[in-house]
Amino acid sequence: MKITVLTGGVGGAKFLLGVKAFLGWDPTGPGPDGDPGADQVTAIVNIGDDIRLHGLQVCPDLDSCLYTLSGVADTERGWGRKDETWTAAAELAAYGAEAPWFALGDKDIATHLVRTRMLDAGYPLSAVTAALAAKWRPGVTLLPMSDERVETHVVVADPTWTGPAGEAPDVALHFQEWWTRYRASLPAKAFLTIGSDEARPANGVLEAIAEADLILVAPSNPVVSIGPILAVPGIKEAVVAAKAPVVGVSPLIAGKPLRGHADACLQAIGVEVSAQGVGRHYGARSDGGLIDAFLVAEGENADVPGVRIGEAPLLMTDPSATAKMVHACLELTR
Ligand code: GDP
Ligand code: CA
Repeated sequence: MKITVLTGGVGGAKFLLGVKAFLGWDPTGPGPDGDPGADQVTAIVNIGDDIRLHGLQVCPDLDSCLYTLSGVADTERGWGRKDETWTAAAELAAYGAEAPWFALGDKDIATHLVRTRMLDAGYPLSAVTAALAAKWRPGVTLLPMSDERVETHVVVADPTWTGPAGEAPDVALHFQEWWTRYRASLPAKAFLTIGSDEARPANGVLEAIAEADLILVAPSNPVVSIGPILAVPGIKEAVVAAKAPVVGVSPLIAGKPLRGHADACLQAIGVEVSAQGVGRHYGARSDGGLIDAFLVAEGENADVPGVRIGEAPLLMTDPSATAKMVHACLELTR
């Protein structure tokens, strides 16, 4: 069975651990027969969070997937490498040249150096990601949603405005600045996916959707992780046209995100902060939406016209618990 997953970073990576466990694979090892990027599972990963820092191209969601699926992520901190050191960051700070809201660890920097060098040499991000995966052996094929640059920016009232209250002009912040520096506390007026109009799906993305037997929408942030993927022209259309059933998983339990600021993001685009709100936001594939079925947390009600609703414990405490969620997704297609 071929499974294709639309995913963001940390939440999506945890979900992918469960997909591997569901298939009976080592969650943090390579795929069957040691295949470093087994093509039975393909993750189409958000790149809207990507940012250039110190001249380095940083792809937080791709790296969260790469590191988590190969067992080298810092699962407590929630991002970056475990056993990380911070010498370069401290030296940059001594120059007053750090981005204080986005630290890069020494080990992590090596990834960004290799990536940037390959990009500058003309390799597409999908090929670069495959090269990185050859070292890390995540056991699933990781594809950026696009080989072109697409960046999420967030429109807010200028936080540096010192004039009369209420008259601050709108400015667009890079997603990372809004998310990490301001912790999503500045009310978002809109999310822009810069570059998405001209972007094309990366090599392999449309094939992975067309050839899948099951398409899963990870319990990732619906607005800033799944949203940018669907903003690449052709991807949503391919999902709608796919032969495989499409099942989404709620990132909210009891109306709250487990981590991060999905509530602020949903509010900003006028979506009710509940599993039902997310389900309706995705909408029924039979009616121009994205999904055929939607998995919500045990005991929660959701009424999404045209979408079959299932319930399961949705806490991804470990890969075997998450594997049960994947199993429940499959059950919903029967
Ligand atoms: P990011 O790109 O690193 O922010 O990660 P994602 O967008 O892939 O995932 C973030 C989302 O994962 C958040 O909205 C969380 O609510 C959700 N999430 C995290 N842990 C869990 C969990 O255990 N269960 C469920 N259902 N959702 C989770
Ligand atoms: Ca992300």
